[in-house]
Amino acid sequence: MTIQEKTGFRRLINARGPATVLGASKVKDPIRQDIYDILGESVETWELQRRANEAIVKLTGAEAGCVVGCTSAGMVIAAAASITGSDIAKIKALPDVTWDKKKIVIQKGQVTGAGDCPVYQVIKMTGAKYVEIGEALDCATYHLRYALDENTASAFYIMGEVFAPNLLPLDVFISICKEKNVPVIVDAAYMTDFRMLAEKGVELAIYSGQKWLGGCTSGIIAGKKELVHACYLQELGIGRPMKVGKEGMISIISSINNWLTEDKDEIRSYQKRLADNLSGMLSGVEGVCCKIENSLYSPSVRLEMTIDDSAVKMPAWLISDELGRMDPVIRIDDYYANQGKLIFDFAYVSEDDVKIMGDSIIKLLENSEEYIKKALNKGKIAFKTRQDMVFDMFNKWMDEDPRE
Ligand SMILES: *Cc1c(COP(=O)(O)O)cnc(C)c1O
Repeated sequence: MTIQEKTGFRRLINARGPATVLGASKVKDPIRQDIYDILGESVETWELQRRANEAIVKLTGAEAGCVVGCTSAGMVIAAAASITGSDIAKIKALPDVTWDKKKIVIQKGQVTGAGDCPVYQVIKMTGAKYVEIGEALDCATYHLRYALDENTASAFYIMGEVFAPNLLPLDVFISICKEKNVPVIVDAAYMTDFRMLAEKGVELAIYSGQKWLGGCTSGIIAGKKELVHACYLQELGIGRPMKVGKEGMISIISSINNWLTEDKDEIRSYQKRLADNLSGMLSGVEGVCCKIENSLYSPSVRLEMTIDDSAVKMPAWLISDELGRMDPVIRIDDYYANQGKLIFDFAYVSEDDVKIMGDSIIKLLENSEEYIKKALNKGKIAFKTRQDMVFDMFNKWMDEDPRE
């Protein structure tokens, strides 16, 4: 009996990658075995954190590291650490910050989601004085220089690929912060170059344990020793309700081991073959154009499918929506759906999955008129953004069926 049959949830083909809403990574066997083993043991968690520290140092080249519950938890904890340092009285006082050094600065154009919650929320949770600089599309060096004063606890930088071109680049951001002696905290949840930020002298970098490292839900904070120590101490304060368990700590140790030894070329060529297969299946479909894309932020092979809406009747978001209604459910990266682009990530896809996906898409497009009519009848053709759809799904989880 599969876990789906035993529990009663639908099987999912994940062509989106390690998204939290899809249960994050599919954790590989050796990592799962270590998690299984430790679940049957009692441990002193400080000792496990100390072993994790060694593994994180090996992975990142930073001075020190600790394990946190997830990246967004790591962002709260890093922000808190920059405000309190290792002063236990201050740690116990948050979110009431009764001292002056509590300003946290971020470029307005980088105020994204820390996952599905906004970045401003995770920073403000600490009691910080939250300050956005610049404009949505622009930030100048003078904005940053002006904002950094003696009461600035830290400056946040978000690593991502969809930002406006005229924000401050990382190197410039770091050098101005160094000039003003303000620590830089980087959200690097989606990065796979784990060494670059320590090399650049970033004070704290936060990585995901459940995205490309492939472990269970967890995160890493890596950086300067004193600040990492202050992060660890937050467990005695506001870090406690977002604590990481022993399974998360062992997962980081084990997945770092796996990351440093796995054959990345072999993984890539397997995924490339799957992407070629899907592209081949869709090559005869009118109005659909496939191209394999490379991303700085993803180690996996990704296939971008562009929908020409003069030839294909169905808008891209409706294709994605309908795929999410199938059995097995097919989930793809729909971030650019409103621009007519659907992206397939091959990190967790098998050969059989590719066949099912290809067949399903062809079937959908062949019957597009029927699907459009159905959607119109349900009043579903109203414009929705990505976040509208996420909310819709969450909103209906209990009494309604988000797949209806
Ligand atoms: C996924 C993501 C997060 C949230 O990560 P969690 O580990 O799920 O908390 C934060 N920032 C960025 C840039 C991300 O991609």
